[in-house]
Amino acid sequence: TLSDRLGAALSGLRGKGRLSEADIDTTAREIRIALLEADVALPVVRAFIARIKERAKGAEVSEALNPAQQVVKIVNEELISVLGGETRRIALAKEPPSVIMLAGLQGSGKTTLAGKLARWLKGQGHTPLLVACDLQRPNAVNQLQIVGERAGVVTFAPEPGNGVGDPVDVARRGVAHACDKMYDIVIVDTAGRLGVDAELMQQASDIRDAVRPDETLFVVDAMIGQDAVTTAEAFRDGVGFTGVVLTKLDGDARGGAALSVREVTGQPILFASNGEKLEDFDVFHPDRMASRILGMGDLLTLIEQAEQVFDAEKAQVTADKIGSGELTLEDFLDQMLAIRKMGPIGNILGMLPGANSAQMKEALAQVDDKQLDKLQAIIRGMTPAERDNPKIINGSRRLRIANGSGVQVSDVNDLVNRFFEARKQMKQMAGQFGFGGAAARRV
Ligand code: GDP
Ligand code: MG
Repeated sequence: TLSDRLGAALSGLRGKGRLSEADIDTTAREIRIALLEADVALPVVRAFIARIKERAKGAEVSEALNPAQQVVKIVNEELISVLGGETRRIALAKEPPSVIMLAGLQGSGKTTLAGKLARWLKGQGHTPLLVACDLQRPNAVNQLQIVGERAGVVTFAPEPGNGVGDPVDVARRGVAHACDKMYDIVIVDTAGRLGVDAELMQQASDIRDAVRPDETLFVVDAMIGQDAVTTAEAFRDGVGFTGVVLTKLDGDARGGAALSVREVTGQPILFASNGEKLEDFDVFHPDRMASRILGMGDLLTLIEQAEQVFDAEKAQVTADKIGSGELTLEDFLDQMLAIRKMGPIGNILGMLPGANSAQMKEALAQVDDKQLDKLQAIIRGMTPAERDNPKIINGSRRLRIANGSGVQVSDVNDLVNRFFEARKQMKQMAGQFGFGGAAARRV
């Protein structure tokens, strides 16, 4: 995997100052392979890598990350931003009905999506109407009706037995029907071909002109990989679209199609489909897609944690202070906040070895995030001087702190006493294990 390759290439490097050209090149090469393996189209990869290199050149090396991790972080951020950053919501008309038209190749998942969208919109209190404008395949209308029934919505379809109908006419009548019966959203399912062709594009643009959609969604199968670019370009030029839906993400596609389509057309990805059932559907999440494309969700999580929790310099200073018995309440608060970022305190302790013993279970039951909230509030209520040198916290200060943080004076007493006790014990332990003070600098 990419993480392994990067790890092997750059393990042990930890720099200060700026990322070196060589670090950037090595990492960029691996990222390039990862993107190509994820089926991102070559020109898109080239443009993307060039941007990454540019940005990495100016980047400071962080204390917490090695250069490879640093570049991966930049790549990840850039991917998320290229994939759209925030999810764009579907655009609805000021005056209902809103019209959503689906376009794409045959088999891309349009009809299935029509049902998924209808179900999702219905769940939000809308009253969608499906309109069957795929009159190309014998079974297409029936398929939409079945999907509609599952979603619990009505399907508008041409009357059977009139020969091949005109999809443009059906679309127009469908929207009129929606106006009549007060449906507030019309979802227009259209025909596709196995490949891009002029007749298909003409029909789609005729339907578009007849119903003037508020949103035209280009539906694309994530599994088609590199072909996504040419298909997207053809639909952009032939019909035009305002948003993209990726389907079949439950397959083993790495999602490169997302990046390619987004880069080439500049249109946002609105939804993602990941299965045949109507509920296998979600709004599109750029961050999830980015880690899928990089194929390194775990590494990204690690990088995040490293940045949040691991601040080498700070940890060093703290270790020194523990060793020399100079730990302040400020440090204590910092430590507590760092640990809390990792989740509820009970969860963290629960992961420690021995967490299943009866003794440990009892201890865990007493650990209480509310208690920690209280400690935090008390320390926040102290002045910097008091945090720095808790010895000055006399009776009148204790009363002020208690009032300021909404607790009893006895709570403040408790905290201060326990802090002094802990500091003493930690100092002893530090001596025992040979860290702290000057010795800590070797760690
Ligand atoms: P259309 O020709 O564009 O209308 O595509 P369909 O909606 O008929 O879908 C074609 C096939 O793909 C059907 O067998 C669907 O069940 C299947 N399909 C659609 N979306 C998904 C998806 O997200 N995941 C999977 N695994 N199959 C899908
Ligand atoms: Mg269909």
